[in-house]
Amino acid sequence: MWGMIGTWRMSLEGITKASLQLNQGISSADAVEIAIKKVEDFPFFKSVGYGGLPNELMEVELDAAFMDGDNFDIGAVGGITDFANPIAIARSLSQYPVNNFLTGVGAERYASQMGFERKTMLTERAKIHYHNRLFDDKQQELKPYIGHDTVGVVGLDQAGKLVAGTSSSGLFMKKKGRLGDSPIIGSGLYADSEIGAATATGLGEDLMKGVISYEIVRLMESGLSPQAACETAVNKTMQKLTPKRQKVGDLSVVAMDKSGNWGAATNIDNFSIVVATSNLSPTVFLVNKINGGHCQIEPASAEWLDEYMKSRTAPLERKGNLNEFN
Ligand code: ASP
Repeated sequence: MWGMIGTWRMSLEGITKASLQLNQGISSADAVEIAIKKVEDFPFFKSVGYGGLPNELMEVELDAAFMDGDNFDIGAVGGITDFANPIAIARSLSQYPVNNFLTGVGAERYASQMGFERKTMLTERAKIHYHNRLFDDKQQELKPYIGHDTVGVVGLDQAGKLVAGTSSSGLFMKKKGRLGDSPIIGSGLYADSEIGAATATGLGEDLMKGVISYEIVRLMESGLSPQAACETAVNKTMQKLTPKRQKVGDLSVVAMDKSGNWGAATNIDNFSIVVATSNLSPTVFLVNKINGGHCQIEPASAEWLDEYMKSRTAPLERKGNLNEFN
């Protein structure tokens, strides 16, 4: 038995590639890195790696984390700029007993000493998105921070090892130095090969309040299925936060247990996920907003899948006067 589950449709190509190799016996640590790298390298996914959307200073600051559920090795980078594959750097940091989570210049220094590939991660397309956001903000008081998504992947290999990984450019227009949940062990991801693993995407500031990935694994340990654990964790976080804070941000999660059973839950419409197991070829599902404590999960239609890629790769026009924000 082997399996992979990932957040968002953007993980499809990576999971497809990695799951072929999982089937041939590679470790889930390699599979998670392969899957996430593929997302980081694709320029049209605007919330991860190359082509990721920048912070308010038009810098692409990237977060990533890696956790091995066999031995609890953890590694993470926060706010790293101009390295091609933050997930590989995070994984590399997981080999040490200490100094596992490096941020900013410290992370860049480490990555450069270790010979990781440098790359200018700000694309022309991301610059247009940035300028257009400034233009829209001027026109109609648009709130910053709309537009984000993290790739989170859980992998289970034939030896029973569970691994979780994340990679994200975080919130569009975030403050320089802002970290979300994605590189935070327990919030953005958690893995325990004796139980299961989980990963999250959405508004990091609220996901962290529920330490949601750890909570899902803890619920699985208490006997809940991955689906029930995901729904319970999202429900509980909503119930805790709503009376205290009125508005709760996006919370979307996926999980897999040590037997390859999987689950997902969300408080938004149409959270897309990708699942591949020894019994299921890579499939995109849409998870619907939690209702009465439960989420409906259905395979995405051919039209939805077609529209997804079309909208991601459609030509992008710069709004307003070309010199206005230079
Ligand atoms: N959770 C990420 C963050 O807050 C963003 C996302 O997954 O949408 O940085």
